[in-house]
Parts: sequence; structure tokens; C-alpha cells
Amino acid sequence: MGKLDGRVFVITGAARGQGEQEARLFAAEGARVLLADVLDEPGERVAGEIAEAVGKERVRYAHLDVGREEDWAAAVAVAKEQFGKIDGLVNNAGILRFNELTATPLEEYELLVRVNQIGTFLGLKAVAPEIEAAGGGTVVNTSSYTGLTGMAFVGAYAATKAAVVGMTRVAALELAAKGIRVNAVCPGAVDTPMANPALLDPDGPSPEAAEAMAALYRKVVPLGRPGRPEEVARLALFLSCEDSSYVTGQPFVIDGGWMAGVSIL
Ligand code: NAD
Repeated sequence: MGKLDGRVFVITGAARGQGEQEARLFAAEGARVLLADVLDEPGERVAGEIAEAVGKERVRYAHLDVGREEDWAAAVAVAKEQFGKIDGLVNNAGILRFNELTATPLEEYELLVRVNQIGTFLGLKAVAPEIEAAGGGTVVNTSSYTGLTGMAFVGAYAATKAAVVGMTRVAALELAAKGIRVNAVCPGAVDTPMANPALLDPDGPSPEAAEAMAALYRKVVPLGRPGRPEEVARLALFLSCEDSSYVTGQPFVIDGGWMAGVSIL
């Protein structure tokens, strides 16, 4: 028996990275899943691979730009047409830009707000009523280590991720009576194209670049390595199933110990 048998989830940013692993794991745990992204070709491919494993009636892909309210309405309609209900949401889609805060162009700041912050808000707004209608369920938002502590050169991103933590708490308070639990994952550095763009290079990173990256993680992360997207997916699974039945309104750090403090060893 799977931990998500009978449940229907919408997972955003599911074409790659953490969202892809969440979709694969949730389907393996018995869920029916609508994968949504702006990257349609890889999104369709991942959905096709999951369908081969669990059956095509359990999986669907939809184009969804999380910053567009009309896209959310369309994606909700697709999920309901295919699965009849929605009782879980993973707001995972996000983008990152590096810039000194005071040098950040307004357009860049607004883009990050649009995708990371407004995208999460629109997901809650579009899907929470469906979850309520289905008798309750769960929402997992995706914040970040940088939503809870400072990190230079990711000012706009950090601001949006702090907003996601605030939104998570308020949504948990307002939706608890409707049977909806809302929590957030706050990853540190996770080995996906966002944190490691060389993964998108067909040749991969050069050995020197790979070693420089590995050395950096050995130095700053107590567990000595970046996280794997599968590890974040397991936390999202915990927050989406009955194992976390008394947990709501919380940000959960998953960072290999990075935020625990400063080590002089
Ligand atoms: P990723 O770049 O590999 O994947 C992000 C996915 O989101 C992509 O498939 C992308 O196409 C999709 N996406 C981007 N904009 C979108 C939009 N407007 N609408 C719909 N989909 C969109 O990155 P990832 O590491 O898998 O990131 C997943 C989430 O985790 C993000 O919210 C990110 O901010 C967060 N996060 C990542 C890290 C990390 O180190 N990788 C750390 C902390 C938080």
C-alpha cells in the first residue's frame, strides 16, 4: 500500500529537478499526479516515463506558468477532468537570479516576485477550494534556506522565499478548519540545474569545476555535499501524507546542517 493511495496532486515545476522527483515519488506512492511546468517537452517526457511505470490514467502533464492566473484555472480544469478531484498541491516551481541587491534591475526583481511569490499565492488561491471540496488535504510550498537566513547576492530571491514562509503560516491558519494542512520545505543547496547549471550541459561540468564545487560543499555544509532532489521529495512526501497528520504552518529546513551554525573544524 502506498502512502498516497487515492490522492490527486498538482505538482508545479515538475519537468526537472525537485519537482520531477516529487512527481516520480508521489506516483510511486499511489498518487495520481498532474505535472505542470513551462518546459513542455521535458515535462511531457517525465510524465510519459511515470505513465510507463504506473499507468497512463494516473498521470497527466499540463502547461502552467505559475504567475498567470488563467493558466492555473486551465490546469485545475485539466486535473479535474482527468482525475475528478484535487486533494494535494506541491507549489515547487521557482527561479533564481544572482545580483547585488542594490544593483538588481526592477524587472528582474518583479520577475522573481511573479514566479516565486505570486506563483505560490495563485496556486493556493486556485487549488485550496478544490482541496476543500475534496474533503481536505495538503499543500507543500517551496521556500528556501534563504527564506530563513541571509545570503549575499540573492536578495530578490530571498525576499520571495521569506514571503513564501509568511504565506505558508497564514494559509495554515486560515485553511486548518477546512481540513487543509500547509507546510513549506526550505532546501539548502540541492543538486539540480538551478544550483548546478552544468547539469544542463550534455558534457556535464569539467572535472575542475566539479571538484571546485565539491570542495565548496565539503567546506560549508556539515554533511559535506549538496542535497539530492530525491531527498527533498521525501520531505515533501512526509508533509503530504498521514505521517505528518499533526503538522501544519511550519517551514522545514533540509540543508545538510548548513544553517545549524558556524563550524571552525
Ligand atoms: P530547477 O531549475 O531544476 O527546476 C525548477 C522548475 O520550475 C523547472 O522545471 C522550471 O521550468 C520550472 N519553472 C520555472 N518557472 C516556472 C513558471 N513560471 N511556471 C511553472 N514552472 C516554472 O530548480 P529546482 O532546484 O528543482 O527548484 C525547485 C524549487 O526548489 C524552486 O522553488 C527553488 O527556488 C527551490 N529551491 C531550490 C534549491 C536548490 O539548491 N536547487 C534550494 C532552495 C530552494
